[in-house]
Amino acid sequence: MLAGIDGVRQSAQNQTLDLPNGLIGNLTIDLISDWNDSLWKGREGSGERDNKIPSPQSPNQTERIFFNESVASEREASMIDAPARNAGLLKMDHPHVAIVGATGAVGVEMLLCLEQRNFPLGKLKLLASARSAGKTMKFRGEDIVVEELTHDSFSDVDIALFSAGGGISLEFAPSAAAAGAVVIDNSSAFRMEADVPLVVPEINPEAAKNHPRNIIANPNCTTIISLMALAPLHQAFGLRSVIASTYQAVSGSGAQGIVELEEQMQAITTGQPFTPKVYPRQIAFNVIPQVDAFTENGYTKEELKMGNEGRKIMSLPELRVSCTCVRVPVYRSHSVSITAQFERPVDASAARAAFLNKPGVQVVDDIANKVFPVPLDTTGKDDCLVGRIRKNLVFENALDLWVVGDQVRKGAALNAVQIAEIL
Ligand code: NAP
Repeated sequence: MLAGIDGVRQSAQNQTLDLPNGLIGNLTIDLISDWNDSLWKGREGSGERDNKIPSPQSPNQTERIFFNESVASEREASMIDAPARNAGLLKMDHPHVAIVGATGAVGVEMLLCLEQRNFPLGKLKLLASARSAGKTMKFRGEDIVVEELTHDSFSDVDIALFSAGGGISLEFAPSAAAAGAVVIDNSSAFRMEADVPLVVPEINPEAAKNHPRNIIANPNCTTIISLMALAPLHQAFGLRSVIASTYQAVSGSGAQGIVELEEQMQAITTGQPFTPKVYPRQIAFNVIPQVDAFTENGYTKEELKMGNEGRKIMSLPELRVSCTCVRVPVYRSHSVSITAQFERPVDASAARAAFLNKPGVQVVDDIANKVFPVPLDTTGKDDCLVGRIRKNLVFENALDLWVVGDQVRKGAALNAVQIAEIL
């Protein structure tokens, strides 16, 4: 793994970002950029990148990349105006897509998802900070030059996939929306606003059709993974309450999280001193019961998201949720241990049946043969996996279960691209 990080640094020095054709397990996001120079340095104690302070604007200096000029011209000629989009009337044909934060962990995965799902793109524009402007990234065999994000970046963009932190979204998403693009935002900046839909396409796809501000929010990664397991059970038995503990991978903190884990492992195994930078305590050979900042009631912001966002996505205002989020020394894929209570009686076999033919989620549950999902099983994969399904011994009408999902992919990039597909 350490060679992977060296590769990142080398790649950054060469000003080229090489995207793997397929996913190389946990190394995928190692291949992306020069995080050591990033803004995240010194933000100890927070696993959340959404409060990032945007950099000052500067003029857009690079050429736009046009994949298919003729398709793009047709698209522009028939462009439907913003009100039509707001009413959800637009089934986009070969849209011009921009990725904001294209060089980041989620941005790189978005590029992979667009390519692997053969998304019907008209044009693609890659945007990041001034640090990355001029670097190239590969898409469908073509080199694309990364441009610096400015307020003028969106004049001919139909869909803007934002994944550069909440500060960037707050500053630039309104510009993109005003220019007529539909913003699909990965940060927490707009998630709880009443006029911004919060969408998991397998659960509430219809919500994506009504986006009066031209902004659609992607839910928190742990929330998406948990709800992929809870929504089918809710449909079958009526969900009332959830108690959850998470096991969150370091790549959930972006690339810096992986660097921190690897540097600490190397320091410990060679007897060198080190100072935690990304996390409040040592993450190597340890677990940390803090993800994001603490709030007044003792929960962290991350822990409150599952309840707040879950209630909105599933239209369950009475749903009660208590969550403990824990950072673990795993590179990629979050796991969640869930106790869920329902309105109606439930048992393990009825629960397993509830997942039959549900897209995006699979049951992997055969304890006699020691079969259950682990983070390595979902890394680079679309589906969330559910196992250890059993009747809870404490509460009435309750189940215990274990769900695992790739938080960079279904928890972020894939979910955003799926939303773009239903626009
Ligand atoms: P990351 O690896 O640190 O990438 C951040 C991206 O933002 C990079 O492309 C960076 O460009 C860009 N950026 C930073 N400052 C910028 C600026 N001033 N102007 C334009 N672009 C700028 O972070 P990440 O993990 O991909 O997370 C991105 C967003 O997704 C965050 O809101 C995060 O909460 C959310 N999210 C992440 C995960 C996950 O598992 N990592 C899961 C769900 C949601 P440079 O390379 O030029 O610095």
